[in-house]
Amino acid sequence: MSKTPVLASFRRIVVKVGSSLLVDSSAGKLKRDWLASLAADIANLHKDGRDVLVVSSGAIAMGRSVLKLPKGALRLEESQAAAAVGQIELARSWSEALGAHRIVAGQVLVTLGDTEERRRYLNARETIDKLMQWRSIPVINENDTVATNEIRYGDNDRLAARVATMVSADLLVLLSDIDGLYDKPPSEPGGKLVPLVPRITPEIEAMAGTSGSELSRGGMLTKIEAGKIATTAGTHMVIASGRVAHPLDAIAKGVSCTWFLTPANPVTARKKWIAGSLEPRGALVIDAGAVRALRSGKSLLPAGVIKIEGVFGRGDAVVVRGPDGAEIGRGLVAYDADDAEKIKGQSSSEVLLILGYEGRTEMIHRDDLVLGGE
Ligand code: GLU
Repeated sequence: MSKTPVLASFRRIVVKVGSSLLVDSSAGKLKRDWLASLAADIANLHKDGRDVLVVSSGAIAMGRSVLKLPKGALRLEESQAAAAVGQIELARSWSEALGAHRIVAGQVLVTLGDTEERRRYLNARETIDKLMQWRSIPVINENDTVATNEIRYGDNDRLAARVATMVSADLLVLLSDIDGLYDKPPSEPGGKLVPLVPRITPEIEAMAGTSGSELSRGGMLTKIEAGKIATTAGTHMVIASGRVAHPLDAIAKGVSCTWFLTPANPVTARKKWIAGSLEPRGALVIDAGAVRALRSGKSLLPAGVIKIEGVFGRGDAVVVRGPDGAEIGRGLVAYDADDAEKIKGQSSSEVLLILGYEGRTEMIHRDDLVLGGE
C-alpha cells in the first residue's frame, strides 16, 4: 500500500495559485489577507531551508478588475491587454507579501517555447536556479500579454508542472478552489474525495470531467494533465484547497486533499526521458578521472573532456564515452560543438577567457545526465 507523503519531507516545492483564490471578482480586488497567510506559510518553508517557487495565475482576472471590464468572454487582444494591467499589480502584491517576511521576489514570465525548446529551457532553468541560489522566490506566470492562442500553455496547471520538472522540484502543490479529485466528475453529485493516486490511469482521468471555474482556464482535466507531466518526471503532486487561510500549513497538518505519487523509481523516469526520447547529435569522449567523477554523482566539467565528435547545438543530446570509446551515458550538453571544442580539457576559470563570455560551469549538468545502468 502506498503511503501519503508529508509536506515536511520535500526540499524543492512549486506552489501554483489559481486566479479565483487571489482575485475577488465581485469586489474587484485582490484577496490580500489570504495572500498574506499564504506568504507566511511560504516564508516558513523558506526559513527551513527549502526552495519554494510560486506559479501565480490572476493576471487576466486582476486586469479585468482594475479595468472594470464587464463579465463575459474576452477576445484574445483584450485578455492580453488585461494581463498587462493585471500582471503588474500581481507582481507588486507578491513582492509586498513576501517582502513582509524579508524575502525578495523575482518575476519570471515565460512563454511555451521557454520550456519546450531545449536551449531556451536550459536558459530559463539557469535564471531560475540563480534566483534560488540568491534565496529569492521566483514568482512565475505565463507571459499572457505576448502569448497568442497557438503558442500558449493557456492554463497554469500544466505550466506549473513544466516548471516543476524543469527545476527538478520534488513536489508541485496545486492550490485550487476545490480540495482535490473526486471519484465522480464535478458535474455529478455524490462524489467522494480520492486521497491518494499512486498512478494516473484511464479511470482517474475519467473522474476529472471537463469543467473549469469562470476565472481560471484550468479545470480538473488540466490538473490531471499536470499530474502526468509532473509524476512521470519524478515530481509528486498534491491538489489542495486554497479556500482556507494558511493553505500550506493545512496540507502539512494533513487536511483532506489528493496526492499524486511518482512511479516507484522517479529518478529513473526522468533519466529515461533524457536517455530515450532524444536523438543524440554527437559525442563527448572523457578521461578516466571524469568517468569516476560522473559515477560518483558529479556533473561533467570541461576539464574532463578529451574529444568532441559530431555537430551539436547547446541543449542537444549527446553520448558520453570513456577513454576506451565505450558509452558511459547520455546527456544534454550546455555548449555547442564549436565552443565545446574550444574549452575541452580546460579548467572552469579558463572558460571565460577562451570564450569571451561566462558560460555554464558544467559541460553537462548532473540533472541532465543519465549513466548506463541508472
Ligand atoms: N496566466 C493566466 C493569468 O495569469 C492564468 C491561466 C490559468 O488560469 O490557469 O491570468
